[in-house]
Amino acid sequence: LQKPQKPPLPVRQKPMEIAGYVGFANLPNQVYRKAVKRGFEFTLMVVGASGLGKSTLINSMFLSDIYNAEQYPGPSLRKKKTVAVEATKVMLKENGVNLTLTVVDTPGFGDAVDNSNCWVPILEYVDSKYEEYLTAESRVYRKTISDSRVHCCLYFIAPSGHGLLPLDIACMQSLSDKVNLVPVIAKADTMTPDEVHLFKKQILNEIAQHKIKIYDFPATLEDAAEEAKTTQNLRSRVPFAVVGANTIIEQDGKKVRGRRYPWGLVEVENLTHCDFIALRNMVIRTHLQDLKDVTNNVHYENYRCRKLSELGLVDGKARLSNKNPLTQMEEEKREHEQKMKKMEAEMEQVFDMKVKEKMQKLRDSELELARRHEERKKALELQIRELEEKRREFEREKKEWEDVNHVTLEELKRRSLGANSS
Ligand code: GDP
Repeated sequence: LQKPQKPPLPVRQKPMEIAGYVGFANLPNQVYRKAVKRGFEFTLMVVGASGLGKSTLINSMFLSDIYNAEQYPGPSLRKKKTVAVEATKVMLKENGVNLTLTVVDTPGFGDAVDNSNCWVPILEYVDSKYEEYLTAESRVYRKTISDSRVHCCLYFIAPSGHGLLPLDIACMQSLSDKVNLVPVIAKADTMTPDEVHLFKKQILNEIAQHKIKIYDFPATLEDAAEEAKTTQNLRSRVPFAVVGANTIIEQDGKKVRGRRYPWGLVEVENLTHCDFIALRNMVIRTHLQDLKDVTNNVHYENYRCRKLSELGLVDGKARLSNKNPLTQMEEEKREHEQKMKKMEAEMEQVFDMKVKEKMQKLRDSELELARRHEERKKALELQIRELEEKRREFEREKKEWEDVNHVTLEELKRRSLGANSS
């Protein structure tokens, strides 16, 4: 019989406006203060062939503060040829807000003669960070989990004007399943605006054709109209055609980050020159939290699901196996037999233990009985000795009395018997 279900509690559709001030309107401030105090973590990965300006762009994105030869070595100092994944952590502070930024670089990517599977170390790194997080989450103490998962991956496309290379397609396809992929066209100053426009179109076509899932920047700003306009503007710039520069140049009394050529100055932070500002704004200013949310809710969740299904568990329930039913039955039978054998062994062990206990108890009571018997025997022997002593005493006294009275007790008894009979 099924229990009758209670009807759901009615929920007021319209919130009730409170007459006075209770204080929960301050909740956002509490959350804000807490978040600022805790600080933020963000991991940015850059993938692309060496020499495409990855380190220069990262330095430009986070301004010169991040540029430090020790923390983030320039091109000449970095390893080459084999794909290595290198993470650099820097603490940044802006208006009292702390950001722990981890930049993950992949020196050597696409540098070899045969580049097949050269993205595998990158995927392994991404997975290893999910694994670290999963392990930390499964611990008993999991209050402060450091999040080193890759939140955004900037994929650098060479400004060839000829679309994506097979390496780009293969790598982007495998990366897009695991991270938020943001394609960027490197060194955009090497192309004219028309060339950039055509190149972007071609890349987007190829991305759609090869079903590469790139990160979709959602609308986030408060003002809906403004939001739609701004995001659309910036969104329409994907893939971002960027220019990086480590040099600050003075132009009309104004200091700008840019690249000077004999025919003019390319300003990095000028939206009419390149999409650098669009990229920086969207990744850092407007969508950093969304990148983290998508990493957590989509990519990490996918990883977690894959991991759990490998273990044969999804949401704590047994997963239906996709094995051959006969193999499955055979396995289950074997498991059952093993279980029975284990139980038998355990029962035997318990039985042996009980027998041993019983034997010990019997031995103990035997010993106790023997001890008591010995005690009793000793007591009786003592009693016998005492009685014998008393008997000897009595004999001695009798003899003394007979000697004094010159008559034996037997004689006296006989005499008294004779007198009675006469
Ligand atoms: P990485 O190996 O990808 O990290 O590349 P680097 O940042 O080390 O840059 C390689 C070279 O390209 C350096 O000489 C940079 O000055 C230059 N470079 C970086 N960004 C740009 C850019 O946007 N345009 C041009 N024309 N050159 C750039």
